[in-house]
Amino acid sequence: NKQILFRDFLTGYPKESNMVLSTGTIRLKLPSCEQGSDSKAILVKNLYLSCDPFMRHMMTPEGGGYAPPYTPGSPIVGFGVAKVIDSRHPDFKKGDLVWGITGWEEYSLISEPTVLFKITDTDVPLSYYIGVLGMPGLTAYAGFYEVCSPKKGEYVFVSAASGAVGQLVGQFAKLMGCYVVGTAGSNEKVHLLKNKFGFDDAFNYKEEPDLNMALKRCFPEGIDIYFDNVGGPMLDAVILNMRSHGRIGLCGLISQYNREKPEGIYNLMPFLVKCVRMEGFRVPHYYHMYPQFLELALKYIREKKLIYVEDTVEGLESAPAALIGLFAGRNVGKQPRKWFKR
Ligand code: NDP
Repeated sequence: NKQILFRDFLTGYPKESNMVLSTGTIRLKLPSCEQGSDSKAILVKNLYLSCDPFMRHMMTPEGGGYAPPYTPGSPIVGFGVAKVIDSRHPDFKKGDLVWGITGWEEYSLISEPTVLFKITDTDVPLSYYIGVLGMPGLTAYAGFYEVCSPKKGEYVFVSAASGAVGQLVGQFAKLMGCYVVGTAGSNEKVHLLKNKFGFDDAFNYKEEPDLNMALKRCFPEGIDIYFDNVGGPMLDAVILNMRSHGRIGLCGLISQYNREKPEGIYNLMPFLVKCVRMEGFRVPHYYHMYPQFLELALKYIREKKLIYVEDTVEGLESAPAALIGLFAGRNVGKQPRKWFKR
């Protein structure tokens, strides 16, 4: 059983020497003693294996917060398409085609298949199940339709746009009737975006001296939706060009995965891993809620469930110092600018 083993945890860019080709042995039948036991193990022959950016996270001891990190000395774990050779699992039988989490080896013994789906439609290339019909496809679909909540006619920007996820997001956005611009790291990829995937426009970010200007050129009226696959300086520039009520789907931060020191906006990984939502809001949009707020606040104040600390200064002449004091933390509680005593 040929395998690619993960050598050890690493920092910086992964190298081929971090992964070692090895030959192990495997019985091509599940042990009969497992028969009738609780085992749900299945044995598969791997047909296609996928390379995905998230695998870099598994090469650090923390696993990036996604899943358990790789075990040094064990086969690399990742998505694949496989054929079931033997099964103790009620949902899978010998001969089934499946896609999901398997190993970088010819045969894998999957003791607890948690992410494994039976393939029923075989009139398309089987490799699609690690791409457009697999994890990247679902990422593009859920990320665009659910997280970005697109509407017809909106301005959509996609980074790493020619990649596994990005090319699909761009096409979904076009199918939705949006105006779509993509960015990628070579002129060949830019050509693909415009001529194969149907993006309205595209640019090579490596040839743009100023990303902010590039975005202003492509989106004179600003961006409604940014499907972010890269993070870093591109995200910084995009934020400057977002329209009111725009949405940013934080799908990936690939520009940061191999950096020992992050670049651009810091500390965004927990947003992604913990599905944290950050949303700007402005109170003028909520004045219609004032009557319900007033009713609740008065009730709580009268019931002494809501207390309020004020920090009052006397006289108009004290107002400038009081205002400046806010930025030095001199106020305790609400600083009212009180012009006269009642
Ligand atoms: P891709 O097929 O897009 O491959 C990665 C691409 O990223 C490269 O081809 C390269 O394209 C681009 N890239 C690499 N380094 C940089 C960099 N420093 N700055 C900018 N671009 C860079 O990968 P996927 O489509 O599979 O994944 C895209 C993103 O989505 C990744 O960040 C990934 O982690 C994330 N992802 C997130 C998921 C989720 O559940 N949130 C699930 C799946 C993927 P180019 O030449 O254009 O630079």
